Amino acid sequence: MEHFKCLIIGSGPAGYTAAIYAGRANLAPVLYSGMQPGGQLTITTDIENFPGQPEPVNGFELMEQMRQQAERYGADIRNGSVTAVDFSHAPYSITIDGENTVQADTVIIATGASAKYLGLPDEQKYAGAGVSACATCDGFFYRKKTVAVVGGGDSACEEASYLSHLASKVYLVVRKPYLRASKIMQERVASAPNIEILYEHEVRGLYGERFVEGAHLVHHTPEGDCKVDLPIDGLFLAIGHHPNTEVFRPWLDTDEAGYIVTIPGTPRTKVPGVFAAGDVADPHYRQAITAAAAGCQAAIEAERYLG
Ligand code: NDP
Repeated sequence: MEHFKCLIIGSGPAGYTAAIYAGRANLAPVLYSGMQPGGQLTITTDIENFPGQPEPVNGFELMEQMRQQAERYGADIRNGSVTAVDFSHAPYSITIDGENTVQADTVIIATGASAKYLGLPDEQKYAGAGVSACATCDGFFYRKKTVAVVGGGDSACEEASYLSHLASKVYLVVRKPYLRASKIMQERVASAPNIEILYEHEVRGLYGERFVEGAHLVHHTPEGDCKVDLPIDGLFLAIGHHPNTEVFRPWLDTDEAGYIVTIPGTPRTKVPGVFAAGDVADPHYRQAITAAAAGCQAAIEAERYLG
């Protein structure tokens, strides 16, 4: 059975940054890429807020650069998804693709989170062409345009207020007759003159030649449902994220939404030598740069743990 000093699970900014640092610390890290090599950034459009990139960089290219940087320092990057782990005792056992089990003295979990989508075929059709699940990443492309945000929680209100400073008009499409968001977020939305809340509306489809030009909505009224076509340039989903933590839940503490709980201010989990970095343990910031920083911390922790 193969035995590694440092095993990294996941290939987003957290995983690759952990691999760069662990490689440079002579830990000979092995990284398993998971189902979506490069992570969530490979499905967004251009990245304009990653420091050190003065020109917009394609998300796929940025992740490719991180991968090459990790390999340059000796990281062994492999295809494969972790399907089971045993953290009952060190060295820890990790099963890849249900068949191959390896052992590791330290494990850095950087499996990320996935934005929830409505499940409409049009979300796929217009991916990168008017559909996004990250206003901070993509909002800039909708300056002076009309957008809609779907959801009624804190994320949706936060995305809507962020977009209200860029777009000329923001519709907040809420399926219930009320918002679930906290009072302060509701007040923020109410105070933005260019946000209009469409209560009891649901998105059923999108239209547009190459890019989104509008959304087909259904409005639930006491008299029955009626169809409404809403001209928009972009649709932002903000109906929650789910962290990719299923295989770790028997061994680690997770919060009620499934995010891995770490010792505050550190990437340490309750299992010594097992660390969590990036969106998998972060319901709040969810940025490439914060994930990268957490990956760096996790690699430094792994190095110190190994002594
Ligand atoms: P939430 O689960 O709180 O809210 C999700 C929203 O999306 C709800 O309004 C829900 O509607 C709606 N929704 C879910 N599925 C669908 C669907 N299929 N169609 C239409 N609408 C749908 O998720 P958030 O991401 O907003 O928040 C997650 C956690 O993070 C919360 O604890 C939140 O407080 C926290 N957070 C805090 C922030 C802050 O304090 N600044 C910022 C962002 C998040 P319904 O109400 O009908 O279920």
